[in-house]
Amino acid sequence: MAKRKIRIVRCKCNYDLAFGAHTCPYCFRKTPLHNRYWFWALIGAIGLLGGTAILPSLLGAELAMAGQ
Ligand SMILES: [Zn+2]
Repeated sequence: MAKRKIRIVRCKCNYDLAFGAHTCPYCFRKTPLHNRYWFWALIGAIGLLGGTAILPSLLGAELAMAGQ
């Protein structure tokens, strides 16, 4: 079986970009942000932070309701 690179994003020049590539090897344009590893890492981090920030405030609101 031949090793295949992950190619999800297609460049404006129709070249199938390798995931993680910063520039297109064909036309040298910058690749979209969602073709970078750190972009998805950042999304995950924001999701985690958002989840941990929202949860205590939800619990706090519930406790405040119960206290009334
Ligand atoms: Zn290109």
